Order: sequence, then structure tokens, then C-alpha cells
Amino acid sequence: MGTFCNSLCTFCYFPTETYTKDKVSRYVVALKKSLKKYAETQYAKSSEFEEVYFGGGSPNVLSSEQIIDLLSYCKKEFNISKNRMIKVSGCTQNFDEKKLKSILEHGVDQVDIGIQAFDNGIRKILNLQDSAIEAENAVKNARKLGLYASIDLIYNLPGQTMHIWEKDIKKALELDVESVDCYPLDVYPGTPLAKQLKLGKVPPIGDSDKEIEMYLKAYEIFTNAGYMPTCHNRFSRIKEDFEDPCFEILGTGAGFFMGYLGKYSYMDVEPVGEYIDLVSRGRFPIGKLFISSEEDEMRKMMKQTFRKQPNDVIFLNKT
Ligand code: SF4
Repeated sequence: MGTFCNSLCTFCYFPTETYTKDKVSRYVVALKKSLKKYAETQYAKSSEFEEVYFGGGSPNVLSSEQIIDLLSYCKKEFNISKNRMIKVSGCTQNFDEKKLKSILEHGVDQVDIGIQAFDNGIRKILNLQDSAIEAENAVKNARKLGLYASIDLIYNLPGQTMHIWEKDIKKALELDVESVDCYPLDVYPGTPLAKQLKLGKVPPIGDSDKEIEMYLKAYEIFTNAGYMPTCHNRFSRIKEDFEDPCFEILGTGAGFFMGYLGKYSYMDVEPVGEYIDLVSRGRFPIGKLFISSEEDEMRKMMKQTFRKQPNDVIFLNKT
């Protein structure tokens, strides 16, 4: 789904758009039209989907009614496995107890919460809108209601010492989360953070040695606590099959970039207006289509041969 966010995190390089209620409503209609178009294909009709994922910045601004509406639509139009996982990602301030309760009642199993950092000083630098305690409470509320919770943490942030990082890792363990995605900070040119670092307005970030040390610290603490490392810097309590795009992803949304269907991979157009326009003209909202080579296909096939092959996934964009 396209990235509507109420405020911009300083490190963010994703396309974001100003949020208005009217625009979001029109976007939800367009998403359903696009889903319908995919659902009518032979591919979708003959597939069973194992996961439904609502990602990107959009779930932050969707009301619980809109999330439930889209979810019901997916359930009506697609053959979703009984053992499916339904996940919704978002920022901490958008997961209040009422919203969590209502999405749980409608079948959501897991929330993926972008915590990024628990330290208040660092949260301020990143322009995260709520305090560490509020972020912590979002995870606690989800766990208390019985939802699985997965969180994102970033390391090698401005002003983040090893001690602060260690505290963040231990906080994740204390909150009893299912998995933690630990990302090293990537400073993208043109982002507010890149400018602030250049002008010395925020403390500098560490060099590659520090970055590696921080990753190894996370590795040590999480694996000692029984979490398993997977690729994409994730530490998870359960063994995950979804370590690379061997499985198939049917997804749609402005800025969605992880579509994998057979030998095709695709990205949707980024601007929400263009997405709505294409869909309303009965077109697939695809901006770029790639066809993998025979060598890529062979590599994929070899990997699939040596592992349990998961089914397909409906994926509503992931940032
Ligand atoms: S990082 Fe996520 S929540 Fe923050 S501005 Fe970017 S898309 Fe929005």
C-alpha cells in the first residue's frame, strides 16, 4: 500500500504523501479494484495464500474499519489458507488498544511495529512522534491482547552508544516479542537526516567497525535468549521459511515493490494519484516489470528443492 504517514521520520527515503481522509478513502476503493483484478486471474483462482500482509505507511492512517474492510475483501476474493497469518504493520502511535482489539477480533494475528529506538533522545532526532514509554506500551498492549508482535530496531544511529543499543535489545526481550528486525542505519542522500549529519546538527554515526560490533552484540544477546537469526537481519523465535523471494508474492499498492509471480517480479507506480488513475481505467497499476533469466530461475528452483515450499502470499506492500 502506498505510504501515507502523518509525519516524516528523518531517515525515511520511501515516497510519502500528505494524508487527507478523502484521498485515503479513494485509495482504499482503488486497492479493492486492483485486488479484484488480480483475484480474477487464473493464477489467483488456483492458488492458496498463506499470509496476508498490510504494510507500508498506509496502515498508520487507515481506520480499523478500513483495515477490516480490506481484510474482509481479501478473504472474500482469495482462497486464504486456514493456517494463514494475517499481519498489519505500522507505527507505535497508531496502534491504540481500541484499534488493536478490533483488528484482532477480525482475524489479525500479528502486528509489526516500527519502534526503531527506545531511547527518547534518539527518537527525537529521528522525529518519531511518541515517547519510548508510549512505544513500549503499544507492544505491551498487543501482547496483552494475545497478538504476536514483531518490532523493528535500527542500530548505529546518531548518538547511539553500545550501552544504549544493548538496552534496546534487552527491552525487546523483556517485551516478549516474536521477532526483531535489526537494521543498520542507511543514510540516504536527500533525507532530512543526511542533511542534519552533514551540517553537524545531530551527533555523528559510527563507522563500519562500530556497525559490525553492534550487529554482533544483537546476535549474541538474541541467540543466547533462544532467537534464531535469519537473513534480512531478523532474529525470530520460530524458524522462518521466508528468507528470500523463493515464495511468490501477489501484492498491490502505490509504491509496492515486492511482487514475485513465477519468473516475473514487479513494482507498482509510486504516486497515489497515478495508482488510482490506472486502476480506475481497468489497468494493473504496475510501474516496472522484470523477467528473471534462466540462471535466476535455476537458482530459485535449486533453493526450492531443498526446502519446504511455502504457498503464495498476498502482500499489501511492505516498506
Ligand atoms: S519510516 Fe515508515 S513511518 Fe516513517 S515516514 Fe517512512 S514510511 Fe512513514
